[in-house]
Amino acid sequence: MGRIKETTDMKTPRIAIVGGGPGGLMLARTLCVRGATAVVFERDPHPLARPQGGTLDIHADTGQLALARAGLTPEFLRIARYEDQGSRLLDKTGRVVFEESDPAAGDRPEVDRTALRDVLLRSVPETWVRWNHVLRTMRPKSDGTYDLEFENGTSGPFDLVVGADGTWSRVRPLVSPYRPQYTGVMMIEFGIDDIDTCHPTLARLVGRGKMEAQSDARAIIAQRNANSHVRVYLVFRVPETWPARTFDFSCSTSTRVGLIGQFPDWAPEIVDLIRAGNDNIVPRPIYALPIDHRWPNRIGVTLLGDAAHVMSPFGGDGVNNALFDAAELGRRLTEGTDWPGAVAAYEADMFERTIESAAHAAEAVATVLSHDDLALSLEHLKAHRAPPGGAIASA
Ligand SMILES: Cc1cc2nc3c(=O)[nH]c(=O)nc-3n(C[C@H](O)[C@H](O)[C@H](O)COP(=O)(O)OP(=O)(O)OC[C@H]3O[C@@H](n4cnc5c(N)ncnc54)[C@H](O)[C@@H]3O)c2cc1C
Repeated sequence: MGRIKETTDMKTPRIAIVGGGPGGLMLARTLCVRGATAVVFERDPHPLARPQGGTLDIHADTGQLALARAGLTPEFLRIARYEDQGSRLLDKTGRVVFEESDPAAGDRPEVDRTALRDVLLRSVPETWVRWNHVLRTMRPKSDGTYDLEFENGTSGPFDLVVGADGTWSRVRPLVSPYRPQYTGVMMIEFGIDDIDTCHPTLARLVGRGKMEAQSDARAIIAQRNANSHVRVYLVFRVPETWPARTFDFSCSTSTRVGLIGQFPDWAPEIVDLIRAGNDNIVPRPIYALPIDHRWPNRIGVTLLGDAAHVMSPFGGDGVNNALFDAAELGRRLTEGTDWPGAVAAYEADMFERTIESAAHAAEAVATVLSHDDLALSLEHLKAHRAPPGGAIASA
């Protein structure tokens, strides 16, 4: 079993960041530019081990601010797609009930998750990130430090462990008894490759940004990513076990036929999105921690991002909160010598700061497939998503 060598200077804490997602890497970058050090332990065996997921809108007052403070605005602008901020709402007949008039007008550009991870990864010393390190256990020691044990057999002591390990955080149980709960909303995700060349009609339907068709308590959401790729999410309000009981995900052809059967009287031009989908069909149950999730401060352990406050993606704040949490924690940790006090102050601020997001995300997941059909979604879009100039295309 290997021991991880770390500095033992007790004036500066030995910081372990568990999870190399957007939050964990942003904390590493922030510490790096402010002269501190840390080690990031990431589960993935290497940077390209899996596709990182779809597109994320990065908000000016949180995600973009964190990137700016970390000196990454030029890199961000190279991957930001301002032109893909469009939003359209349709009913199942294909009638457009809402459309933003100018997809490029907003200040929440889209970035592909893989591109964002790449920017963050390149911004920290290579030796800081330890791939193939799946945290198994974390034990408090009598001297106030924590021993981390990884599934690859390595272990090591740290003064401060930051859980940036997402929804199913293995750090969280040290501070909080809560586990994320299934929200009742299930997304089934797949992609459409090279849509502009191979499926130009569908490309026009999706437009520059997000298209959402909603009726009969289900939805089809299609989101434009970079490189002519589109991610499609079929959204259902069903028990958590429904996908496994209903489809054989080992056979994409039969799964696709089964999914098409879920939208029997929908306009064929919308259902064509399912026909055009690739074979990588993945169920994504949506989980959330309680609004106002918090814990009593415990010296040497804290959380950020989804580990601290996973919420439904319908609010659109998840990655923005993760990036901003990281920027704030990094700033506070490098401002003085009282690092336990800095962590406590970060937590107190973060608990309050994220309540509104969590409440908004909970409201959004509750209304996405409401009995009022499109009415509540339309109200939600107009209230929260429409930039000045957003317009009802037809009533
Ligand atoms: C379908 C979907 C769509 C979304 N769309 C949006 C959107 O448009 N806008 C938005 O703001 N947010 C969106 N989100 C939410 C957003 O993805 C998250 O809020 C964000 O990724 C949180 O970042 P994070 O760094 O906290 O956690 P994560 O991105 O989950 O990263 C956690 C990292 O920890 C690693 N890890 C996990 N366990 C361990 C372990 N035991 N040991 C070591 N490493 C571990 C993982 O491999 C991963 O790299 C969406 C989420 C979903 C599910």
